Amino acid sequence: MRPAILVIDMIHEFVHGRLKSPDAESIVPNIKKILSKAREAGIPIIYLCDKHYPFDHELKIWGEHALYDSPENKIIDELKPGDKDIVLYKRNYSGFRDTGLLNVLHDLGVDTVILTGIHTHICVLHTAWDAFYYGFNIIIVRDVVAAFSRDDHEYALKYMEKIYGAKILGSKEVIDLLEGIQKK
Ligand code: ZN
Repeated sequence: MRPAILVIDMIHEFVHGRLKSPDAESIVPNIKKILSKAREAGIPIIYLCDKHYPFDHELKIWGEHALYDSPENKIIDELKPGDKDIVLYKRNYSGFRDTGLLNVLHDLGVDTVILTGIHTHICVLHTAWDAFYYGFNIIIVRDVVAAFSRDDHEYALKYMEKIYGAKILGSKEVIDLLEGIQKK
């Protein structure tokens, strides 16, 4: 398995701002643990962050959020990217759309994406959708993704498992998995 960790929208807007998930802050410590194990094991980490122009289509639904170069579109301090991490910006729900993510994953030889971040039923789900159609194996880390409500969260997990064949694992299982790769 050649995985990459995707960190979706762990920016101020979705953790503390207008479109925050009530569970956002609680998932941060476990994301941190996964990222530190991934760095140790040499597993690539790719941040995918909303960065909108005021005319973006999606703003018709959600209103202004994560605007270009605003404080809201900055990654939260606790999850500050490391020197070797990759940061890509998106103007859509999916981390694949117009971000260059597909090329990056191909160039890195990645076959499995491990999804973390917000929101389970929007950007995580749409990124999983594209990952499925581009032929990647998908792992969703149950306790490091969050949504507006527990219902949205649970519904999206079940949907991704059923429709995209995503494996739903806990962060502990993912850390063990990365540990196994490191030891090889
Ligand atoms: Zn957005």
